[in-house]
Amino acid sequence: MRFGAHVSASGGISKAIARGEAIGCESLQIFTHNPRTWKPINHTDAEITAFREGAARAGMGPIVSHGLYLMNLGALDIDLPSGPPGKPATSVRNIYRLSITSLTQHLEIGERLGLAGVILHVGSSKGSTTDEAITRIAAGIRTAFAASPGTCQVYLENTAGAGDTIGRTFAQLKAVWDEVDNPDRLGVCLDTQHLFASGYPIHEPGGIDSVLADFDQVLGIAQLRCLHLNDSMTAFGSNRDRHENLGDGEIGAEGMRSILSAPALQDLPVILETPGLDGEGPDLENMARARTYRAEGRAARAAAQPAK
Ligand SMILES: [Zn+2]
Ligand SMILES: [Zn+2]
Repeated sequence: MRFGAHVSASGGISKAIARGEAIGCESLQIFTHNPRTWKPINHTDAEITAFREGAARAGMGPIVSHGLYLMNLGALDIDLPSGPPGKPATSVRNIYRLSITSLTQHLEIGERLGLAGVILHVGSSKGSTTDEAITRIAAGIRTAFAASPGTCQVYLENTAGAGDTIGRTFAQLKAVWDEVDNPDRLGVCLDTQHLFASGYPIHEPGGIDSVLADFDQVLGIAQLRCLHLNDSMTAFGSNRDRHENLGDGEIGAEGMRSILSAPALQDLPVILETPGLDGEGPDLENMARARTYRAEGRAARAAAQPAK
C-alpha cells in the first residue's frame, strides 16, 4: 500500500508535493482545477516542471487528481437558463457539454503533470432513466478520451448512493465500463465511506473480503486502481456522503483494521480524504492511524491462520 492524501494545490500546483511530504504521503491526490468554477486554471510550464521534478525527488506516486464536483456527465444534453443566484437568467448553459469539456481539460493537464488518473464521480441521472444517463456518461467519457490522447486514465468512483447518483453498485460501474469500452484508459476507485453508506458491509468481520470478491466477479479486481480511505460520520446504508477521521466513525477502528489488511488491496494507493482533527483535511494523525491499523490488521490475520 502507498498511503497518501488529498492535499491543497493552492498557490501553485507544485506546492502540493511538499504538503504531501509534510504529512507522510507516498502517493497523492490533488485538484488540478478550482473546485468552485468551470474555468480552468492556467498552469504555467514552470509550475508543471516544478511539480514533476518535486514528485520525482520525493518519490511521490502514483498521483491522481479528483475531478470537479460540478461535472455531471449524466445530465441531460440541453441548454438551461443560467445567471446570478436570485436574479433573472442572463445566459444559457449546458452542464453535459461543460462536463465533457472539463473532463477533457482534466485529462490534458493530467497528462502534462504525469498523473496516473482522474477520479470521476460518474454522474447523476436526474430527469431521465438510469440507462439513458449511463449512455450519456459513456459517450461523454469517450468524447473526452478522443479529444485528449495519452495515458492518463479515468477512475470511475463508487458513490454513497444519494439521490439519482450512478455508481452506487458495482453493476452500475460495470455498465458504464462496458459502454465506454476502453479498458486501457479506465480504472475504478472505491471509497470506503461510500461503500459503507451504500450498503456494502465492509465493517463486519470478513465483510471487506466478500465485498471485494463481489467486485472481482462483476468488474475484475485488476480494474481497481485506487482506494479512498475514509471513516463514516453516517450510519451503514445511510446513502449519505459524510467522511470522518479514521477510527472515529461508524466503520471504526476494527473495521479499518479489517479493510487495510485485505490481501486484495495491498498493492493500491490509499488516499485519505478525512476531515482532520482540526478540520483542515488529512493530517499526520490520520496518516499514522492508517499505517497502525494496517499493521494491526495484518498481524491479526496472520495470528488467525491455522498453524502449519
Ligand atoms: Zn470523490
Ligand atoms: Zn465522499
